[in-house]
Amino acid sequence: MGRVAIVTGGTRGIGEAICKRLQRQGHTVIANYAGNEEKARAFTEATGIPARRWDVGDYEATQAGCAAVAEEFGAVDIVVNNAGITRDGTLHKMSFEDWNDVMRINLGGCFNMAKATFPGMRERGWGRIVNIGSINGQAGQYGQVNYAAAKSGIHGFTKALAQEGAKFGVTVNAIAPGYIDTDMVAAVPAPVLEKIVAKIPVGRLGMAEEIARGVAFLTSENGGFMTGSTMSINGGQHMY
Ligand code: NDP
Repeated sequence: MGRVAIVTGGTRGIGEAICKRLQRQGHTVIANYAGNEEKARAFTEATGIPARRWDVGDYEATQAGCAAVAEEFGAVDIVVNNAGITRDGTLHKMSFEDWNDVMRINLGGCFNMAKATFPGMRERGWGRIVNIGSINGQAGQYGQVNYAAAKSGIHGFTKALAQEGAKFGVTVNAIAPGYIDTDMVAAVPAPVLEKIVAKIPVGRLGMAEEIARGVAFLTSENGGFMTGSTMSINGGQHMY
């Protein structure tokens, strides 16, 4: 059965692969993005998937964005909280803004999206929320106290909200990707990336589509008994 799905940060990288996969599953997919208009236009032209701009870290903008999607496409039953940023630096060089932006967007975005969509899912007795965490939220990472804290927070947020949704047919799960070949990883300096890949037992970076397949399962009818879990998709880099 086709549902209405919002994928935040859906116009490139992992989010783009998730959008395409959910579209192939027969859902009406809406991709949210932050501001890269050129990429969003190209994405919509290539896929036919509408893109809607708002900052998931902005509470009011997220409520308005989700309300507009529901008005235009129908009640939202699937949310994939994928939007995320990095502002890396060791603690002594990290500004409060770098800390706050990452917490506000990566973790706050999950809260803001859930506030806009979870009550409706609960009332209708069916919903799927998938939050994209990270291996670095599980294991920590040098130079990423902000990102690791936000992603680790996502895993706690997932387990708490899963308990609230369980009786109402709403599952809430997280996926913790390892290193996936996207713009975010392209920003990692080559010598650092080589060392990272050397630590991945399968010997390569992951592909965005490999995360999308996990989302497809968690958002399907078949995923109904799985809630509050974290699916680690990381090539064996961190067995948790
Ligand atoms: P990209 O940097 O390639 O894409 C990020 C997407 O998020 C873009 O569509 C961007 O929009 C959007 N975005 C950023 N900030 C906001 C915001 N405030 N509001 C709405 N949308 C926003 O990221 P990836 O595809 O690599 O990563 C996707 C998710 O997976 C992130 O949460 C990331 O932390 C996580 N992850 C990624 C890993 C990797 O190896 N790539 C590993 C582990 C986790 P726009 O194009 O407009 O800027």
